[in-house]
Amino acid sequence: MTSSNLKSKAKEKLPRLAILGAGGLGREFLAVLEKRACLNPVAILDREAFLFEENGLNLKETYLELNKHKSVAPLKNSLLSQQTIYDLIKAHGEKIDCIFYALPNLPNDFIYQTTKELINLGFQGVIVDALKRTSAFQLLSKLSRDLRAAGILYVSGCGATPGLLTAVSQLAAQSFVEIKSIEITFGVGISNWESYRATIREDIAHLRGYSPEKASQMTEDEVSQLLEKTKGVLKLEQMEHADDIMLELAGVCPVERVTVGGIVDTRNPKKPISTNVKICGVTYLGEESTHQFILGDQTNMAANVCGTAVGYLNAAFEQLKEQGLTGFYSALDLMPRFSRSSSGSQNQTNSDLLESKMLKSV
Ligand code: NAD
Repeated sequence: MTSSNLKSKAKEKLPRLAILGAGGLGREFLAVLEKRACLNPVAILDREAFLFEENGLNLKETYLELNKHKSVAPLKNSLLSQQTIYDLIKAHGEKIDCIFYALPNLPNDFIYQTTKELINLGFQGVIVDALKRTSAFQLLSKLSRDLRAAGILYVSGCGATPGLLTAVSQLAAQSFVEIKSIEITFGVGISNWESYRATIREDIAHLRGYSPEKASQMTEDEVSQLLEKTKGVLKLEQMEHADDIMLELAGVCPVERVTVGGIVDTRNPKKPISTNVKICGVTYLGEESTHQFILGDQTNMAANVCGTAVGYLNAAFEQLKEQGLTGFYSALDLMPRFSRSSSGSQNQTNSDLLESKMLKSV
């Protein structure tokens, strides 16, 4: 069932989502939710304007308009603002259950500062990010007590890496009694860097001689010139990615055994290499072995990042509602899931569901 044919009554029951950021990932989030109707996006914003529709955005129309204009301001009913995040949450925060950050984390404390602002505004609900850097994750973790007091469940590192590949690593590591290494290698292909400006800038920040500060200060021309020199390809090694701290916190292995790198082609949507993770460990019998998990080449970055984040939003919303869980968690503390809410069974436990399935089959 797609959201466009979801009856408005069913849509009303879904958790209401605000997507902060309307660039590459923010826009594709709408397209994913059109096919995976488990959340009701009521708001989207960028630096200049926000759009809030109490009963839910028209996904198809909003997606098409955003792709056409590349900004929120030209959209019908959008409001211009100098501080869109603040104004959206101040005016409508009580009608929002979940937030996904599709924002650049530049400077490196931007998501941290934004979260502090949401706490001060009295937002209550779920926040999920797809941030990348270990230092940004560590900074956010300092807000755990404040998040708990505010009634917010925050889950960090819910993209592809960190996110999908980190969660796979934790699961695969269970075959071993000792982990020797976890090696994440990603391949990303996009047709132009302007579709994912923040992603590319944050990748540039990992190149030798660059930093988040330097990358955030580069003009668009400077980014284009750099990409011209590299023929549009970025080769990334030894990246500072929160996969390492998340796996250490989960007890899988020390940070120094986790490495992340990859190749990004900004001129071709075909992946330059297959994204994969190798988990090397020793079994209880002393055998050294390696699990490898390879993502399908047809799954693009948006499928793997937005899809994973949707799974975590579902899981977090259920945890908050059913268990009252609040505070700061990593993507390794929860299992992403498909929601039961679109089937109308949101408040049913697994045994309720099994029982009703058995009754139907009698
Ligand atoms: P983008 O540059 O395409 O879009 C960013 C959006 O945020 C834009 O709409 C911009 O206007 C808006 N924005 C910027 N500053 C703002 C502000 N102060 N207030 C309100 N809106 C603001 O970004 P993207 O390429 O879609 O990436 C988004 C984030 O996702 C980045 O931080 C990137 O690193 C992260 N990411 C994570 C993974 C992963 O696997 N973990 C993968 C890819 C991207």
